[in-house]
Amino acid sequence: MSNHTRKLQAFRASLLHFHADPAVSDQAHAWHEDGLLVVDEAGRVQAAGDYAALAPSLAPDAAITDWRGKIITPGFIDTHLHFPQTDMIASPAPGLLPWLETYTFPTEAAFSDPLHARAGAEFFLDELLRNGTTTAVVYCTVHKESVDALFEASAARNLRMAGGKVLMDRHCPDFLRDTCDTGIRDSEELIQRWHNKGRAMYAITPRFAPTSSEAQLVAAGELARAYPDTFIQTHVAENSDEVSWVGELFPERRSYLQVYEHYGLMRPRALFGHCIWLDDADFALMADTGSAIAHCPTSNLFLGSGLFDMARADKAKAQVSLGTDVGAGTSFSMLQTMNEAYKVARLKGSYLPALRMFYLATLGAARSMQLEGTIGNFAVGAEADFIVLDPKATPLLARRTAHADTLEETLFALALLGDDRAVRATYAAGRLVHERAGESA
Ligand SMILES: [Zn+2]
Repeated sequence: MSNHTRKLQAFRASLLHFHADPAVSDQAHAWHEDGLLVVDEAGRVQAAGDYAALAPSLAPDAAITDWRGKIITPGFIDTHLHFPQTDMIASPAPGLLPWLETYTFPTEAAFSDPLHARAGAEFFLDELLRNGTTTAVVYCTVHKESVDALFEASAARNLRMAGGKVLMDRHCPDFLRDTCDTGIRDSEELIQRWHNKGRAMYAITPRFAPTSSEAQLVAAGELARAYPDTFIQTHVAENSDEVSWVGELFPERRSYLQVYEHYGLMRPRALFGHCIWLDDADFALMADTGSAIAHCPTSNLFLGSGLFDMARADKAKAQVSLGTDVGAGTSFSMLQTMNEAYKVARLKGSYLPALRMFYLATLGAARSMQLEGTIGNFAVGAEADFIVLDPKATPLLARRTAHADTLEETLFALALLGDDRAVRATYAAGRLVHERAGESA
């Protein structure tokens, strides 16, 4: 798919991207009201800047796609979600356990069938692209077929995706259980088959500490050492009952998070979902090990798990990104995820500006994944994954943004009122992979 003969392309619109975290620098973002994004033949950023400055140097026959009136930003990066749970998003249940038993586990069981898994992966990726998400860190199921399905469908769209087979050898239904040996052997086979092949990246995926035996956690840590540029993804400190349970299972560890450190599962490229019930020592450990937090507000509100403390994470200089956590999360939209992250921050007594939220969903996530320079902004040479946002996508958005006085106001309205309807088009490595029906560019 990526071998098309292509030529230089240029896209004219307002451009927004980041060079730094707005929480630590007031020069963090670049904004070009009448901007131009130039993408080379290989699908990489050649230039991003003012139209007036860049247009004269373009070849006379260069194709310029006119998206004036819209905002081009880097594609969103969703650092935590479960692709097989797409089919059970928005399932009613009075608590985590009945939700898992009634919906999650039976839904995941169906992914042992490669055809079912492939069809699910196709829908899942198209849904991500409709929502402007061009990279995600994805939990598959315990079945290696589910990983093949995800990466085959992702390769067909030429997307930069991370994912992995769930490791789970205890405290789960028999039909979703692996063993220490098969789990690690399958993971290694999948790393060799997929990791760094095209744009695929493998994530070693213990579901969470209680569902892996000590032997499996030890082996997962060894795998993470043997393949140091793979990702690691798991859950930590999502709700208080789970934290107590981990305390009983691992009484010799100082904290839930420290269980992962003990088994060698904290390092750069390790991503931890939720992180609600961490203490200051845990946040410091997160920062010291170069690990990163995936904050999943729609999921935390849906399951009543608790409120993530962004200010505390910032104080410890821990890396933070945003995840939808579908299917406990209630939306694939990173805009809706920002909306709920904003409200969670308010409930914790802090404030999240829109610029910060757009940073977290783009360059902040790329940094959490150690992928700065590859994705997340329009640095020269970066892969040209980008989206076209329409501040007038709905009557209400149009009415609100018509009298927005600042960029912050426009972005805030997009975050609070926007969803997939605000994503006019999505490009992966310079190629159009989603376009919303409407007037043509
Ligand atoms: Zn999750």
